[in-house]
Amino acid sequence: MCKKLPTQTQLQEAWKELREIHETHLLPHQVKIPSAEHYSERAKSIWLAVLYFHGNEEVHKDVISDVCQRDKPELGRDQQVRHLKRDGWRLTGKGGYHQLDPYQPSAEWVTERNRQAGRLHADTFDNLKQLYGNSCATCGATEGRPDPRYGQDKVILQQGHMDPAKPATRDNIIPQCQFCNRAYRSDFVFDDKGRVYAVADVGPVRRASRQIQRTIFEWLKSVF
Ligand SMILES: [Zn+2]
Repeated sequence: MCKKLPTQTQLQEAWKELREIHETHLLPHQVKIPSAEHYSERAKSIWLAVLYFHGNEEVHKDVISDVCQRDKPELGRDQQVRHLKRDGWRLTGKGGYHQLDPYQPSAEWVTERNRQAGRLHADTFDNLKQLYGNSCATCGATEGRPDPRYGQDKVILQQGHMDPAKPATRDNIIPQCQFCNRAYRSDFVFDDKGRVYAVADVGPVRRASRQIQRTIFEWLKSVF
């Protein structure tokens, strides 16, 4: 890369402008921005300042890594700029090149936020089931039909707890078929897409192999 890097003054100026644009256009969509007065305080603030500085130009991630090395040398060489998408930023480009549209959130971000808002606005279990296509959040079985895995029994959607340790409030409920609801008992915590993301009881650990139990044991010893 022999292209000249933007100066620190230019980047600070870019960061300041970008924060203002964010506040007007992206904050209403809850797009996340690092809280940093100076662009070089965080890795992500450097990435964003460099991308915004280059405007409509695509920037290779190596250029962004070069700026990081210059202005915050403790950061690694391989900066994962694409992770900005997870915070709602609209990035385009491929093959290691990125371009930022600072005026609107990414389409995926909007879809996901609408989905979550829909979940919280569903005032009856029927409405909530509709948001899930009248299917089990965990296995996808459709309500009212027999499921080939379970013979002739028709699928009934029940109010499954996301976190079994918490009350069955609206934000803690997903539709689950009677089979999933029964099989998982109170062993797991689910996210709002019905995916397991934590254990909620000792059962799954008890059923795990000795090797996994040992790994968990070693980890727990280091924590407590
Ligand atoms: Zn299911």
